[in-house]
Amino acid sequence: MDKQTFSSKPNDPKGPWDTVIIGSGPAGLTAAIYTTRGAASTLILGGEVWGGQLMLTTTVDNFPGFSDGISGPVLMGKMKTQAERFGAQFQGVSVESVDLASKPFVVKAGGKTYLARSIIIATGASTTWLDAPGVKELIGKGVSSCAPCDAPFFRGKKVAVVGGGDSAMEEALVLAKHASEVTIIHRREEFRASAAMQEKVRSDPKIKILWNTEVVKVKGEGRVESLDLKNNSDNSISNLMVDGLFVAIGHKPDSGVFAGKLDMNDKGYIESRSEHCGTSIKGVFVAGDVIDKKFKQAVVAAGMGCIAAMEALEYLESDK
Ligand code: NAP
Repeated sequence: MDKQTFSSKPNDPKGPWDTVIIGSGPAGLTAAIYTTRGAASTLILGGEVWGGQLMLTTTVDNFPGFSDGISGPVLMGKMKTQAERFGAQFQGVSVESVDLASKPFVVKAGGKTYLARSIIIATGASTTWLDAPGVKELIGKGVSSCAPCDAPFFRGKKVAVVGGGDSAMEEALVLAKHASEVTIIHRREEFRASAAMQEKVRSDPKIKILWNTEVVKVKGEGRVESLDLKNNSDNSISNLMVDGLFVAIGHKPDSGVFAGKLDMNDKGYIESRSEHCGTSIKGVFVAGDVIDKKFKQAVVAAGMGCIAAMEALEYLESDK
């Protein structure tokens, strides 16, 4: 069958577009599939680094429809191709500012100005770094938050992972394929990661676990050499020689560009005001990890992207 295009581009690339989607993870790309199929002209401002957090994962085993698992980047590529198949236009640029007080809304990105009748915010979340001396200075010099990106640099070396959630388990499992030894450092005596991920970690002979332990300092001249650790049970300090530290202690919502323009909580999560994905401004919708304080799953983000798109289509219909 020929390529089906449901949405039409405005004559002027500036717009106004029926919908401008900010972000290109599962929420943004799913939203685009729905807005285009709803015949809304759709521009995705996907960021200079597109695709969101799944671009940093290896196998995704819990996205329905892929019974043998699927690589994160491959999954995102498929979503992008699907959105473009229906006519979504994609720009790999980051949003610099928004004016949500004017109608149409104004979005500045990549040095250009775009007009939007509606906006779907799907900017996601990014790494929270550990607040310990040496961490910031040694990012890219042994401190990382992306094992799939950096693990091959640590072939045959000793590394540590800090965190006790699914991300930490995933990082450790990827690292264990390359490193000689992986130590997970966790501040409590139990993980919050899913049972399935914990089981995989526990059955990997290369992975050791240090419970009740925090990293208090990352040491090294120009590269990570060792970590000062505090035992939370007796407050004793010890030193662990490692070549790398992978930080997996969670993420923070990427909502800075909307600060002061939309209601958000003290952690920067945008507050939804309608029953589902509406915000404090009519015509502006939000989906994915930038609103999700709890679940942070790709499939949840995709579901929210669908809801935000359907709400945007209803809004566009009522705003004619
Ligand atoms: P998370 O579940 O929030 O876990 C963060 C971990 O970091 C917790 O164990 C926490 O310790 C620890 N932590 C937080 N702040 C810390 C600090 N300052 N110092 C030391 N440790 C600190 O985050 P996540 O692992 O990134 O996962 C986020 C969501 O994505 C979850 O819903 C998860 O299920 C999902 N996810 C799923 C997969 C998968 O299914 N394959 C993969 C990755 C992520 P405490 O436990 O003591 O609070």
